[in-house]
Amino acid sequence: MNAISEKQNRQETERRRTFGIISHPDAGKTTLTEKLLLFGGAIQMAGSVKARKASRHAASDWMAIEQARGISVTSSVMQFSYRDCQINLLDTPGHQDFSEDTYRVLTAVDSAVMVIDSVKGVEPQTRKLMEVCRMRNTPIITFINKLDREGMAPLDIIDDIENTLQIECAPLSWPIGMGKRFKGTYNLYRKELNLFTPGQERLPDDVLTIRDTSDPRLDEILGSQAAELRQDVELLEGAANPFDMEDFLNGSQTPVFFGSAINNFGVRELLDTFVEIAPPPQPRPAATRMVYPEEKEFSGFVFKIQANMDPAHRDRIAFLRICSGRFERGMRVRHHRTGKTVQLANPITFMAQDREFAEEAWPGDIIGIHNHGTICIGDTFSEKELLWFTGVPSFAPEHFRRVRLKSPLKAKQLKKGVHQLVEEGAIQVFQPVLGSDLILGAVGVLQFDVTMERLKTEYGVDAAYEPAEYAAARWVRCTDKKKLDAFKKACQSHLATDARGELVYLAPTLWRLNYESEQWPDLTFLKTREYQ
Ligand code: GDP
Repeated sequence: MNAISEKQNRQETERRRTFGIISHPDAGKTTLTEKLLLFGGAIQMAGSVKARKASRHAASDWMAIEQARGISVTSSVMQFSYRDCQINLLDTPGHQDFSEDTYRVLTAVDSAVMVIDSVKGVEPQTRKLMEVCRMRNTPIITFINKLDREGMAPLDIIDDIENTLQIECAPLSWPIGMGKRFKGTYNLYRKELNLFTPGQERLPDDVLTIRDTSDPRLDEILGSQAAELRQDVELLEGAANPFDMEDFLNGSQTPVFFGSAINNFGVRELLDTFVEIAPPPQPRPAATRMVYPEEKEFSGFVFKIQANMDPAHRDRIAFLRICSGRFERGMRVRHHRTGKTVQLANPITFMAQDREFAEEAWPGDIIGIHNHGTICIGDTFSEKELLWFTGVPSFAPEHFRRVRLKSPLKAKQLKKGVHQLVEEGAIQVFQPVLGSDLILGAVGVLQFDVTMERLKTEYGVDAAYEPAEYAAARWVRCTDKKKLDAFKKACQSHLATDARGELVYLAPTLWRLNYESEQWPDLTFLKTREYQ
């Protein structure tokens, strides 16, 4: 790579923003996504994201579960541009039963937007997702939605966020009234008044620069609510935390915006600030060293695998986040786990509506690679130096089911289906050392429903679940082979291997798990395991 393209690499990296939206179901994530795409020119009409979601429901039965329960099971990637920035939006499943998938998606982002329903305040799933973001100190921008409805008082929502989520809030905009009295927002950061016209799905242009809230125009426009706004602004100037870039970037402070996604209000404000303050692709730790995005050699890791994304193709796609260098179509790269060199011939990008072939891509971008069963979640691909990006974990399942085939003739399909779903990270599988049962393990019980539906619709397998009386699973490791062998002998009836052949202890009770870990102090019982 010559000097000019090094400069280009830096420029392209600088203008990338890769983020995810976190929220409790129904807070307005889909609606906000749609409006963001609208601003990015990625879709022409509002409603397309929902429509697409709906058509996919119809296309494959298992999605009906998602529809019935009003949750988003799948994650997808949308790329669009706004101003000078190239934005990658990674969708995350909102339901807690898919938190493992969400966690992995969040390992691939540089920041997150948190949507809160102003009527409901902080909800359980927001709290869980926030914990996930905290593990990596992901910078978060907050959007308080549904101001067109009567909700909690803005200050109470701020208090709720600060107390429940333990993160400092820095309001950058402030609502003027709510519900029927909602007039718009005052942007404290830019000193601008954004006026709200209800029921209009338009790109707002009613922005008025008002440097000083004593400006008499406020009274003309807002009437008696001008005094309320002045009082609020005065209060905020004294009491609220000023925005601090460093605190935002290290995840200890969140800038807050108010709006109404469905009315397309406050979305541009959010997006304008987002492209300004959200961080571009950051350096990432690999097992051997830190990898910087502007390095000339390409590297990236797989954070998600999804089978049968497009029912017409029945393909499996591995989603790879680029961490450094420039990616070119047809490039030959090394696969860290196998050590083999492979050619990435037809990678795809995710322009919001269609999948397109990626000719080139840069740090922060996500490309989809066709997977023929050799790629696993957590795998790293790099140009010359063999790298392995750490921090993409697998969590020990907390729920277990035994699978019984209704027709023994389908054993092969069951194996194939389970293998592919495990590879996606949709479910985990354990093969007990004794016997021929197949035990499935999940972090959230809904994963079982989805697995069964998909086994049926995608693999033609008719099976049923039976209870499996386990309370926990732990990956067992020990460097002392003798001790490990002794443990294997003693606990044989509770041992299994996972999909990668790793030894797992399936504990019948938590008490027993404690007991065994005390009995075998030289062994480690792992609750999370890194993909490697
Ligand atoms: P998700 O589950 O978080 O993706 O939420 P959706 O975007 O599907 O929104 C959930 C519901 O809230 C839908 O009925 C939306 O029409 C509605 N909604 C979204 N944004 C707003 C808003 O700003 N105001 C009001 N009143 N409703 C909204």
